[in-house]
Amino acid sequence: MREKKILLTEREIPTHWYNVMADMPNLPKPPLNPATGRPAGPEDLVAIFPMELIKQEAATERWIEIPEPVRELYKIWRPTPMFRAYQLEKELDTPARIYYKYEGVSPAGSHKLNTAIPQAYYNKEAGIRRLTTETGAGQWGTSISMACQFFGLECQVYMVKISYNQKPYRRILMNTFGASVVASPSELTEAGRAVLAENPDSNGSLGIAISEAVEDAAKRADTNYSLGSVLNHVCLHQTIIGQEAKLQLEKAGDYPDVVFASCGGGSNFAGLAFPFLMDKLQQGKKVRLVAVEPSACPTLTRGTFAYDFGDVAKMTPLLMMYTLGHSFMPPGIHAGGLRYHGDSPLVSQLYHDGLVEAVACDQTAVFEAAVLFSRTEGIVPAPESAHAVRAAIDEAVRAREAGEKKVILIGLSGHGHFDMSAYEAYLSGELQDAPHSDEALAESLQRLPMA
Ligand SMILES: *Cc1c(COP(=O)(O)O)cnc(C)c1O
Repeated sequence: MREKKILLTEREIPTHWYNVMADMPNLPKPPLNPATGRPAGPEDLVAIFPMELIKQEAATERWIEIPEPVRELYKIWRPTPMFRAYQLEKELDTPARIYYKYEGVSPAGSHKLNTAIPQAYYNKEAGIRRLTTETGAGQWGTSISMACQFFGLECQVYMVKISYNQKPYRRILMNTFGASVVASPSELTEAGRAVLAENPDSNGSLGIAISEAVEDAAKRADTNYSLGSVLNHVCLHQTIIGQEAKLQLEKAGDYPDVVFASCGGGSNFAGLAFPFLMDKLQQGKKVRLVAVEPSACPTLTRGTFAYDFGDVAKMTPLLMMYTLGHSFMPPGIHAGGLRYHGDSPLVSQLYHDGLVEAVACDQTAVFEAAVLFSRTEGIVPAPESAHAVRAAIDEAVRAREAGEKKVILIGLSGHGHFDMSAYEAYLSGELQDAPHSDEALAESLQRLPMA
């Protein structure tokens, strides 16, 4: 009998995270203190992060042990399943073998709980009582709310206003896990009040919400800030996805020719791709690793590789990354988790060095793929995850035309059960694409800081 699901046992949950910095030919340039222009040291970060995470940010050892209490909580939903997409393959009439690693079985609905749990753990160990954060689509906010609850921490979430209005159930889910949630821009912070003064109808953005959460954390000694993507320690924690996926494909007797994962701040892509990148760097494996982003927020495919702020209010250290400019205001597309102006410095450096690839997809094409996937595989993908599905379907169609028996791996980062209004917009023909003119992008890029 052919296998649909490739499962692992609890004993096969990875014991270590994989640190790609041990194998990169060029390390990313360090973050800079915006006031001095010099590399940001631990002293620049201690106001908002615990020391263990600051250390992971700059760690160079290849394997970092996962603390026992974190592995214990991972057991709630890990290892996650890998599926062979037989019905999708049949529908596409492709000789390609398509697999997907499904992170939507997490109780938060996405991969983000993989890093929320260790972040809450390290903060608790450091004596912190309260965490602040931002959330776009609500996936990260849900994850950190749950993780804070597990470790007895308070949680304040600044939720991008457009998502706050589009996704009331996400907000209620966060409240259920005990978090306080406010729409960003809010009146609670100077950063929020400044944006509202200029534009009372602001949809908000991840950049604004980050400013608010960082300001809140910097002001209080008992409070730290927690980021759901972009930073090196977040990418590190997500590498359990790719490690499990490798083991599962090995059990299926396969190895991917190409891996697709959606890319907002980059940690989802990093989590699936980096353990395969290790094989590429150490053993010369030919696997292609493709980050898929929305054409409405095309950071890798149309951005610039430069030092930029992580937020609108210019409070964060400068990060060397692909960016559309910290003042870039992405349109209100439905993949809220992919509306970030920048990208992980690790993913950015690897893209700059030609070791990973990127493509951008239009929103309508993404939902077309999401519906096809739902109807064949029976899982309704998150709009973010559907970007990877779109790119994988295009690849499978090319494989059909070329008669190639390619092995394609999709990172299915989450389910779309809280995104039904987006599906409704697509199904009723109301969904539109929101591409960017070169002029709008050039304008935003003019406001990059000179590093
Ligand atoms: C946040 C999110 C993403 C994007 O993740 P990054 O790590 O920021 O690139 C993708 N899929 C889902 C379901 C998400 O919630």
